[in-house]
Amino acid sequence: MKFDNLGLSEGMISALKKKGFEVPTRIQELTIPWILGNTKDLVAQAQTGTGKTAAFGIPLIELIQENAGHVQALIITPTRELAIQVAEEINSLKGDKELSIVPIYGGQAMSLQLRSLRKGIDIVVGTPGRILDHLWSGELSLGKLSYFVLDEADEMLNMGFIDDVKEIFSHTPEKKRTMLFSATMPREIIDIARNHMHEYD
Ligand code: AMP
Repeated sequence: MKFDNLGLSEGMISALKKKGFEVPTRIQELTIPWILGNTKDLVAQAQTGTGKTAAFGIPLIELIQENAGHVQALIITPTRELAIQVAEEINSLKGDKELSIVPIYGGQAMSLQLRSLRKGIDIVVGTPGRILDHLWSGELSLGKLSYFVLDEADEMLNMGFIDDVKEIFSHTPEKKRTMLFSATMPREIIDIARNHMHEYD
């Protein structure tokens, strides 16, 4: 299997070449064509290091529109390190597409984050607590969100963020696609999928 067979744009193929990605990993082979060809929600089991960031990052970049003027995708990660890493990986895949992809995490100066939020972000990659702070203050609006990604959902559970995640769901519109990635599938994670997601594969 090659990236050429996954229904990707020329811009994406050339971004992947520049990055040195030659063949998709197993999870990418499964999720990329599925996300691009479907409208359902997704629950995916994948360990760290298997290429899961690009497994959702590549189709997200393909689906997201330039100059939409509102946050189109929110990716929630359990740690600030992962938020930074995910934002960097997705930035490196965007090619010539004019998209703003910004990490928003606890511990970073609020002023910097407020400046980015006010300028406009297409894809926010954030940790749960700080995302809630910006939702409560009204600086972040998810009213027109199209894609909601939960990355390392089981880690969010282990770190006690599951109630924060549920609250973030309540700030998102009913009509959106949710994609949940987790290395393991404990009951609480399945419950999130059952209670907060639409029909999923
Ligand atoms: P992740 O599981 O998303 O943290 O990715 C682990 C590492 O694999 C990162 O350094 C990615 O840049 C890299 N990677 C992801 N997909 C591919 C691919 N198809 N070919 C080569 N490297 C990849």
